[in-house]
Amino acid sequence: MRLCAVSVDLDEIPNYFGIHGLGEPQGPARTLVYDVALDRLASMAAELSVPLTLFAIGSDLSRERAAAGLKAACDRGFEVANHSLDHRYDLARLAPDEMRRQVTEGASAIERATGIAPVGFRAPGYTVTDELLAVVSEAGALYDSSVFPCPAYFAAKTAKIAAIALLGRTSRSIVDTPSVLRAPTRPYRIGRPYWKRGNGLLELPIQVTRGLRLPFFGTSLTLAAPSMGRSLARGCIGEPLVNLELHGIDVLDEHDGLQALAKHQPDVRVGHEKKMSRLRAAVGELAGAGYTFVTLREAARAFQDAA
Ligand SMILES: [Zn+2]
Repeated sequence: MRLCAVSVDLDEIPNYFGIHGLGEPQGPARTLVYDVALDRLASMAAELSVPLTLFAIGSDLSRERAAAGLKAACDRGFEVANHSLDHRYDLARLAPDEMRRQVTEGASAIERATGIAPVGFRAPGYTVTDELLAVVSEAGALYDSSVFPCPAYFAAKTAKIAAIALLGRTSRSIVDTPSVLRAPTRPYRIGRPYWKRGNGLLELPIQVTRGLRLPFFGTSLTLAAPSMGRSLARGCIGEPLVNLELHGIDVLDEHDGLQALAKHQPDVRVGHEKKMSRLRAAVGELAGAGYTFVTLREAARAFQDAA
């Protein structure tokens, strides 16, 4: 089986300011993901004939334009999945009742906007615990897609949080347990702890390459030269599921109104057209290798018997 799912986390711009410990952005920059990126993603997806899976944050949908954009994407055949109510980076550390509320009200907001109850979940910052995954499972999810067993990403994230602290700012992002690096890299049923196999919720891990387990996701693909992106893609070919994860910001750049963020995030300094052509090259490599593009919901059905 060769399936590829391309998913996009629709984290709005204030989340990135929070990661870097910066104050809240003002004006139109606050909503660039829904107001600008969503259309770019839809046209790229149409061009590539790829059905996207969009992970939406429930509280963003109280804005009418965001809810309407998501509904239009859903009508186009995209899947909309749950990225929690408020995208709290410390979701996995909240008290049980609040954790449950964040998961269930995120799902309800999506259902109100699209008319369809989401079946998939992705945790903010990829940080999960057994407690959070139990809540996700009890809420009736068909799959979770948060585990990212990538040593390079783990090291970079930990270093980034430390560097921000050295600058006297506090990142809203949190350091995860390194045990996540022991998790399987292919679809599996979670055990306890969640990085071991068991017979619990179906986990569709975020993609890493074979061997070095390099990150095959939007940030690495948009920053890398096309030849490097294609080589990362080739490092995934042969995997039964390639779970390529992007963010809305992957198709935005500083000229969209993100000058304040460009200083802190090198990917924002790369023009969005260049980034989109890099993403197309990586997806093209997989298409050329015979991959069929599906939503994560379809992938979850195909892998529901995973051990
Ligand atoms: Zn997110």
